[in-house]
Parts: sequence; C-alpha cells; structure tokens
Amino acid sequence: MGVSFDKADGSLWLNFDVRPAANPTSDAARAAKLADPGFGRVFTDHMAVVRYNPTEGWHGARIESRANFALDPATAVLHYAQEIFEGLKAYRRDDGGVNLFRPDANARRFRNSADRMAMAPVPEPVFIEAVEQLVKIDRAWIPGGEGSLYIRPFTIANEVFLGVKPSAEYIFAVIASPVGSYFKGGPAPVSIWVSETYTRAAVGGTGAVKCGGNYAASLRAQAEAIERGCDQVVFLDAVEHRYIEELGGMNVFFVFDDGSLSTPPLGTILPGITRDSIIALAKEAGTAVREEPYTIDQWRADAASGRLKEAFACGTAAVISPIGKVCSAHGDFQINGGAAGEVAMGLRKKLVDIQYGRAADTHNWIRKVF
Ligand SMILES: *Cc1c(COP(=O)(O)O)cnc(C)c1O
Repeated sequence: MGVSFDKADGSLWLNFDVRPAANPTSDAARAAKLADPGFGRVFTDHMAVVRYNPTEGWHGARIESRANFALDPATAVLHYAQEIFEGLKAYRRDDGGVNLFRPDANARRFRNSADRMAMAPVPEPVFIEAVEQLVKIDRAWIPGGEGSLYIRPFTIANEVFLGVKPSAEYIFAVIASPVGSYFKGGPAPVSIWVSETYTRAAVGGTGAVKCGGNYAASLRAQAEAIERGCDQVVFLDAVEHRYIEELGGMNVFFVFDDGSLSTPPLGTILPGITRDSIIALAKEAGTAVREEPYTIDQWRADAASGRLKEAFACGTAAVISPIGKVCSAHGDFQINGGAAGEVAMGLRKKLVDIQYGRAADTHNWIRKVF
C-alpha cells in the first residue's frame, strides 16, 4: 500500500508487489515465439498494474501474470477515450546486460499527456519503477541481435459513469512485446502519401499528446495512403494545409545539400524522443539543425532542384526510416533516387549503437536495468 509521493525529492513511495506467473511460457515455446516475433503480436508473461482513486491515490502496485481486465460496459475509456500511452524499448547489450533508452523522457511526456487529458498523472519514479520491474521479471523475453523489447505503458479512465467529465479512477499498466529488427536486411525506404483531406492536429488540440484518440483519427488517412499504394501518411497543418507536420506515428526530418537538417517545430506535433535525440546528435557533430515550418510545395521544389538530398521519418519503433517517395493528388516525386541516404543511415547507426551500448553514452541517455 502506498504512503505519499514525496514531491520534494521525487523518491519512490510505492513498492511493487511482485507475483510471478504460476504458469509462465515454457522455454521452448518462448524460443519459438522469439524466432520471428514481428511487431506487437507476441507478449511477455507479466504486466505491471497500478490503480488510482481519489481517496487512496496511486495504490496496489503489482507485477502480475498478464491477464484480461474486467471492465464494466460503462467504463469511461470505452466511451470518451480518456486514454494515454507511451512507447519505449529495452535493448540487450553484447555483455548480456539490458539498457533502457531515456525512460525519464517517456515518464515526463506521460505526465504532460495526463495533464492535457485531465487524468491523474503517474509520478515519474512510479512510471520508471513499473517499467524496470517488468523488464526484470520478463528479461528472458528480450530478443538478442537487432531485436528489442517494446514496452507499452498506458493509463485508462476506469470510472463507471456515462457523464462527460474527467474520470475519478484510473488504471496505469505496462505490458511488453518482443520485436524483431523492424527492417529485415536494413531499413527499406518508405513511400508516403500527403493527406490533403484529413488533418491530424490543430492548435489547442491534442497533437502534442500521445493519446489513442489521435491514432483513431489518423486511421482513415492511413487507409487512404495504403489505397494509393503508399506505406504511410504524412499530415499537413490544419490551417493552411501547406506545412508538413508528421506521419501518423513518426516525426520527419529533411536533409539539404549544404549538409543542414530541418524538422517541423513543436506545437501541434508529438515531441518525439527520437526526434530530440537526433537533433542533439546532429548538433554535436557540427550539423546545423533548424526547427522550422516547411511546406509541401517547397519540398517538391527542393527535391526537383537537388537542394533536398534526403528525408526520413523517426520514432522509437523503427528508429529512422528513409523516405524514398512522396505521393500526392498533385503528383509524385522521388527523394535521393528512392534510396536510403547516407545522412539518415549515419544518424541511425549512431543512435542504435548508443541504445545497444556499443557507443559511449555521453548524454546520459542509458539506464541500465542489469
Ligand atoms: C510516439 C510518436 C512519435 C515518435 O516519438 P518517439 O518518442 O520518438 O517514439 C511521433 N509521432 C507520433 C504521433 C507519435 O505518437
């Protein structure tokens, strides 16, 4: 049972009651699943769960066997989508240890998301402890090589009430899913469809928040991208329909012939931790990085003139995906001849080497679980 959260020193006040699964997956069955996990369909044996109500605050922290939630049909999240989530990874180092990459940044963003969605914020030490405890108990599920364990923390509004108001009760949980290398045989360039019909976010909305509702609203546009033969959708701003914002779940960068980078400014886009890390690594290497608006027309013109050398998308799941082709109702154009670019691949290697502990962690981004 929790006591109180000491805001002064941020120390952990909640102890997780660890209850190992009675019937965990056998070594053989786990090995079979890890042989080709794909993305997001294979899950580990355990989950972290912490509950909130106004009288007890966050309480009942547990690591337990992964199981269904019993939800009343009138549970608030099922009707008004008061829900937020995070995504981060655990990486197996060559020495057998395990790294988390910037979990403090995820914890902070999760708090910001809770604030925007009028939800009880999970204290950052509780978020990190839940992630670490889950990684510890499900350590055998972390794939070797270029695979990783994708960790999905989330909070749902759990009050049983059909009135429209912030829920009084919440469930914070963390689940984990082993994932293979996102791209077999190196990152294949993706093609993207410029959505001129649908927008993702407007000023004052929830674009900067990792909430399920943003994703629900993006699916029609993503389906349109697939119909047009593209892999992903890229959204434009909601006011002028000119400025590039981001993909459905990834931020975007442009690489120019003078070696500089640009990326859309924060505001209505999701503040990606990969985006932030790329900016830091590029600047450290002496590369100019501008956070500035960039229009689809300028992109097309710069691709034609040769001023634009590369473009890439970035996020935790795929790290960096080169963009090879841009399609729109006003015609298609290629980038870097449709091939993966040197700058994107160089930044990708730098970042991945830090994540797997193969390069020095000069920014203090790594948290060793083991
Ligand atoms: C999660 C997410 C990103 C990438 O964020 P990372 O912290 O780099 O994983 C980008 N855009 C959207 C919409 C997202 O939900």
